[in-house]
Amino acid sequence: MVDLDTLFSLCKRRGFVYPGSEIYGGFGGFWDYGPLGVELKRNIRDEWWRTIVQERDDVVGLDAAIIMNPRTWEASGHLREFVDRLVECRVCRQRFRADEVAENVCPSCGGPLSEARLFNTMFKTFVGPVESEAAVAYLRPETAQGIFVNFKNVLTTSRKKLPFGIAQIGKAFRNEITPGRFTFRSREFEQMELEFFVKPGTDEEWFRCWVDQRLAWYRRLGMKPENLKLHEVPAEERAHYSKATVDIMFRFPFGWAELEGIANRTDFDLTRHGQVSGEELTYFDEETGQRYVPYVIEPSAGVERSFLAFLINAYEEEPDKEGVRVVLRLHPRLAPYKVAVLPLSRKEPLVEKAREVWALVRPHVMSTYDDAQSIGRRYRRQDEIGTPYCVTIDFQTLEDNAVTIRDRDTMLQERVPIPELVSAIRDRLAAS
Ligand code: ATP
Repeated sequence: MVDLDTLFSLCKRRGFVYPGSEIYGGFGGFWDYGPLGVELKRNIRDEWWRTIVQERDDVVGLDAAIIMNPRTWEASGHLREFVDRLVECRVCRQRFRADEVAENVCPSCGGPLSEARLFNTMFKTFVGPVESEAAVAYLRPETAQGIFVNFKNVLTTSRKKLPFGIAQIGKAFRNEITPGRFTFRSREFEQMELEFFVKPGTDEEWFRCWVDQRLAWYRRLGMKPENLKLHEVPAEERAHYSKATVDIMFRFPFGWAELEGIANRTDFDLTRHGQVSGEELTYFDEETGQRYVPYVIEPSAGVERSFLAFLINAYEEEPDKEGVRVVLRLHPRLAPYKVAVLPLSRKEPLVEKAREVWALVRPHVMSTYDDAQSIGRRYRRQDEIGTPYCVTIDFQTLEDNAVTIRDRDTMLQERVPIPELVSAIRDRLAAS
């Protein structure tokens, strides 16, 4: 399996991920996503949205503000409960999460550690021109609360009946004590969250159903079965709102770790927001004539965590004539570029023809163009960023108006007439 240093250097060299504010020496826990990274992230979000919202008849979307009325966090319990236990080394002054250090010894210098103190990981800011306690607000540490406070709005406007869900993708912020392991633990990241509202009593069944569906999503996008497993989170490790949590775990180079959490949040959040806001956040069940607070099943995934896991899962090295061939076997739907257009040589009129072909492809799929160095080198460069199809324009193209499509995984080449190129690519993507 690829180690994080190798992956980090590939990501930086090829424009997937850069350290945040790098010219100023970086900024711990913040990352910038380059031309390829932005595409991969977008594809992950799009696949999630397509599966969770577009293809279902019982889920609608939402895009709520990042900064919410601070009473939200009082009601949700985050002001009190969203804490990590922090310990500090008495010698080197480094800080750690208490649950990440063993035997009260500093992992860095071996010095003794302080007593643990509670540290709220929500970022604070001020809203308005006065920096007073009354103006304190928080950057949301999860997107879920934007959904709960809009439960009534969405229920009324969408006229959905239970069971139904509200989905949201957006930024979340956590002032993590120890960010690290590349992007695994960042301070700014994106969540893809679904709050699925169900009738109390049906929650356990729906919980299992969502665990299965989420696992199937990763598998369908190419995650190897041996890289995924489920972990039932024991009661003492669960969040304050959760009756049951299953984590989908991924085999990272540093060990198994959470990729996504699926929680049964019960009626905790809607009840609390109902109490604190004074709004009635209930549901009237026309079939039974009952009014109740729905239960909520929440699959909560991270865009950057998935990004990292998909890259690790896809990375392969294999020996070839020139040494080592690095291939990212990303699912074609996730690959930043679907197609690379490559003229066999830089000579005219090949380049002109290749540019025509690229112009033909561009409106249909995300694509790139490369005419520098040997064709073998260029295939390697595309393999390394996961491009599933390379389209080569050669001298014969000028005579037969056909090009070659080379498949990243089989390395087989097929000749296709230019007028049929777009549909040939479409067919391949649809079949993937
Ligand atoms: P941990 O206990 O590791 O801090 P958590 O259990 O608090 O994480 P959740 O609140 O369940 O995490 O968050 C849901 C999802 O959001 C996670 O599965 C992960 O994909 C993503 N996520 C959470 N925190 C981070 C982070 N600091 N950086 C990147 N992604 C994150």
